[in-house]
Amino acid sequence: MLELTDMQIIRTLAKRHDFSFSKGLGQNFLIDPEVCPEIAEYGIPSPECGVLEIGTGFGVLTQQLAMKSEQIVAVELDRRLKPVLAETLADFKNIRVVWQDIMKVDLQEFIAEQFNQREVAVCANLPYYITSPILMHLLESDVKLKGITVMVQKEAAERLCADIGSRSAGAVTAAVQLRGTAEQLFEVPRDSFYPAPKVDSAVIRITPYETPICPAEQLAKVLKVVKAGFAQRRKTAVNALSAGLSLSKEQVMTALSACGQKETVRFEQLDRETLLRLTDALSVATGKESL
Ligand code: SAM
Repeated sequence: MLELTDMQIIRTLAKRHDFSFSKGLGQNFLIDPEVCPEIAEYGIPSPECGVLEIGTGFGVLTQQLAMKSEQIVAVELDRRLKPVLAETLADFKNIRVVWQDIMKVDLQEFIAEQFNQREVAVCANLPYYITSPILMHLLESDVKLKGITVMVQKEAAERLCADIGSRSAGAVTAAVQLRGTAEQLFEVPRDSFYPAPKVDSAVIRITPYETPICPAEQLAKVLKVVKAGFAQRRKTAVNALSAGLSLSKEQVMTALSACGQKETVRFEQLDRETLLRLTDALSVATGKESL
């Protein structure tokens, strides 16, 4: 197996395949030999659990995942990596790379197709330019995952693990906590990557609730409300929601007061239970089944 944390090997591979690292695609590859085995350890509950990896790079994490799980499916956008991976993953029969933009993948269909009935966890060193959209894509889909263990920028990790209702929370924070619990596992300094990014990173794990807090249909509605509310987080909830959901201020005010909220409350101040109740109250106030 090629040692992909060895700088000499990385340089040789890049040169042989005429590969240049794309900043735009967030290509900062892991070169600390301890980090990938640790992500695999935290992220894979059992060998029978399949793994969806997002972004292979040269395959440094993919290799480690393939030693711990029976089936790895990796989605990678950059087709220039094809000849590199043909070399670096040649020893593994349990890895399949799919050349696609993860944002364009219908996750429910894809996971059913690729993994059949197997349980699945997501493990990845996410491209930073698109961390929140990828997490939102995972959390919005109705797929049942064992866990989501991902490397993100340190500030993003703090935001993702913050409490809903706190100033650092955002739409993805709320989405995380509507689907499960989030914990920061360990920090990873910037010099663990090549090329080194300008910021440090951290690995977080999101563990979905065994029993969802509400049915999928209601969750989709709450997430719609959350996205509208956080899009204009410094405004009052009334203004943010009436603009984001195309509702009248009166309709939003009626729903807010049904949840015991003042008309001056900002969306970011609402906690999880209030978000759930508010979504129901908005459906009632607007007379619409779906928002
Ligand atoms: N897993 C490797 C590692 O840890 O060294 C690479 C991680 S690198 C931070 C992110 C990877 O995601 C890159 O290989 C990049 O090409 C890929 N990528 C970027 N945008 C993507 C997208 N929309 N869909 C799938 N892969 C993407």
